[in-house]
Amino acid sequence: MKAAVLTELNKDLEIRDDVGLGELGPNDVRVKIASSGVCHSDVSVQNGTIPSGFPVVLGHEGAGVVQEVGSAVSRVAAGDHVILSFIPACSICNPCLRQQSYLCEQSGPQAMAANFRIDGNPVAGMTGLGTFAEELIVGDAGVVKIDSDVPLDVAALIGCGVTTGVGASINSAGVTPGSSVVILGCGGVGISAIQGARIAGASEILAVDTVDAKLEQAKHFGATHVTKPEGFEDAKNAITGGEGFDYALECIGNPNTIRATYDAARRGGTAVIVGVGRMEEMLQFSAFEFFYGDKTLRGSLYGSSNVRTFMPELLRLWRAGKLDLESMISRRIKLDEVNEAFRAMQAGEVIRTVIDF
Ligand SMILES: [Zn+2]
Ligand SMILES: [Zn+2]
Repeated sequence: MKAAVLTELNKDLEIRDDVGLGELGPNDVRVKIASSGVCHSDVSVQNGTIPSGFPVVLGHEGAGVVQEVGSAVSRVAAGDHVILSFIPACSICNPCLRQQSYLCEQSGPQAMAANFRIDGNPVAGMTGLGTFAEELIVGDAGVVKIDSDVPLDVAALIGCGVTTGVGASINSAGVTPGSSVVILGCGGVGISAIQGARIAGASEILAVDTVDAKLEQAKHFGATHVTKPEGFEDAKNAITGGEGFDYALECIGNPNTIRATYDAARRGGTAVIVGVGRMEEMLQFSAFEFFYGDKTLRGSLYGSSNVRTFMPELLRLWRAGKLDLESMISRRIKLDEVNEAFRAMQAGEVIRTVIDF
């Protein structure tokens, strides 16, 4: 079958048509991919921001149809429509029992499972998925069943960017009605965070980005104010009277913008770091300012979401017309065009490119 394979750092993906699958284990499911989003984290594996072994089948934001299940699988059956969950939710480990399935202990084993075969060798998919392939095998903890009338391109977006961004506003930040929110970075995750803040009832949502076209899109998805970085201080003063924002979310993954996000939150406010930064990059804070600011600074992994309940909730918001997923799909491509999609994403030309299989 066809799959897009990254063979080493900073190389274009290789589109191969001779990729196979390993044996289906008792707890595994085989899924035919219908749609896969192209997410910035795929580029982050390509450029080394997210560490990975090679070769690896990229893609971690997808949805499809279950073809076959192992003998011990009861969660889904052949024919079920599913969203792939790049962090599994096994439902029995301690984090899952604490309602923190985004920290599920099965995420390591899922990521390490090498279920593809290339030249006879086991090869892993990104985060244990590898949605840039026509089919994949994953443990049943890594699939979330959805209603079969949901279009699978819409469902695919929920696999990463939408859950991450909407969840960051609703679950990680806990945006409250009437509050002020600033979101730095308006890619797929930032746009989703804007939608999450709107759904949560924020009064003012300031979107910050360097690209004019993205700021225009941000308005469509619910930003009440937009600015380029150089206009940020003026916008902050106008919206919050200089106090700073109740909630500030960073959707980029850069030390400078992380620092700016902390500074953008008011005293007593909340700063949430959603972007994936590089392992070796460091942040600096004065020892005094944490005490004096009394701010909450927290990370956000997969939108701090319990996918088995949150993904269905997102689909209900979509059905109710409160979550706009269709407008997030900027381009539709075939798998062969994935390298061009990487370029377009890095140039800020698209919110999401979706690969139709
Ligand atoms: Zn678990
Ligand atoms: Zn992603």
